[in-house]
Amino acid sequence: MASRLLTTLAERLFPDAPSQTAFLDSIDHPTGDHKSAIIWTDEPDAAWRQEHAAPFPDVLLPWVPPQWIDVLRDGTRIGQDPLYQNGAFYPLDLSSIWAASPLLSLPPGPGRQVLDLCAAPGGKSIFASRSLQPNLLMANEVIGKRLGILRHNLKRCRIPQAWTQRLDPAEWGLRASSAFDVVLVDAPCSGQSLLLKGIDNPGCFHPSVVQHNARRQRRILSEAARALAPGGHLLYTTCTFAPEENEKVITWLLKRTPALTPLEVPHLSRWKSRLAEFPCYRLFPQDGLGAGGFACLLHEVGTGTRGHLPPDLLGYPVGD
Ligand code: SAM
Repeated sequence: MASRLLTTLAERLFPDAPSQTAFLDSIDHPTGDHKSAIIWTDEPDAAWRQEHAAPFPDVLLPWVPPQWIDVLRDGTRIGQDPLYQNGAFYPLDLSSIWAASPLLSLPPGPGRQVLDLCAAPGGKSIFASRSLQPNLLMANEVIGKRLGILRHNLKRCRIPQAWTQRLDPAEWGLRASSAFDVVLVDAPCSGQSLLLKGIDNPGCFHPSVVQHNARRQRRILSEAARALAPGGHLLYTTCTFAPEENEKVITWLLKRTPALTPLEVPHLSRWKSRLAEFPCYRLFPQDGLGAGGFACLLHEVGTGTRGHLPPDLLGYPVGD
């Protein structure tokens, strides 16, 4: 039975009763059978693919999916798979692939410098490495306990030109001002979509939890904007449904940083949010692709040169 807070959220998210009910039902009765995907970090293995890959869902076909993403057949288990253990691929749920996919609309470029401000355990960093092929990927994780798994994943998958750091976003805004062509903020959030994965998340709809997260997201985003080079791109994503952590955070950022413009992402047009006047995108559990999420790609319209990245920030390379 949906709580009052959840029912109110459904009423804010959807204009019609059938959509509200579909959303509430998917949260009340999570099936847990969401599709999984992998990112190949090595050349795809044809025999493995033949055995385990499923057709790309029709709704995603406008993407022209890159050769390095496969959707897995239901029931495929990869934990003990030697290819997985050797880092030939990295698993991600389809919601995460969906959320990172705006990066596919940016041209890859040698010379790009990418900062992933909230990186552990590493899925979006690995996606960014494959899609953008940067000459510098800085995967930052502020929580020390999560740094080990981040480094382990980047190392196992042999992600090239990668470094890690454990700095507060404010350090990046201050010390690496305008230094990155692409900044990713896969923000810590109230994680309301975790319920769809059968993960208990008490209080995730409570206004105080949502407001706490929104404040933190604003802080992270304002530092991300400072670290962004003129002409650069910022991708903001969450795995939660509350407008306060999604459209409203971006509205706040746009007022504060007029040089940022949200961009249309044509391959996501069917998921355009109706809760904002600017382009941003929402995936809901009843869409059948995964637990759900939010994505907004922003462009900094300024001109000028990229800022300096102090060499001491490159103290922790992932490779040897
Ligand atoms: N991008 C990751 C991936 O694809 O594997 C998932 C990131 S998770 C949604 C959010 C991350 O933000 C967590 O690793 C969390 O430790 C980190 N985080 C928590 N508080 C933070 C803060 N104040 N500033 C930056 N990152 C924070």
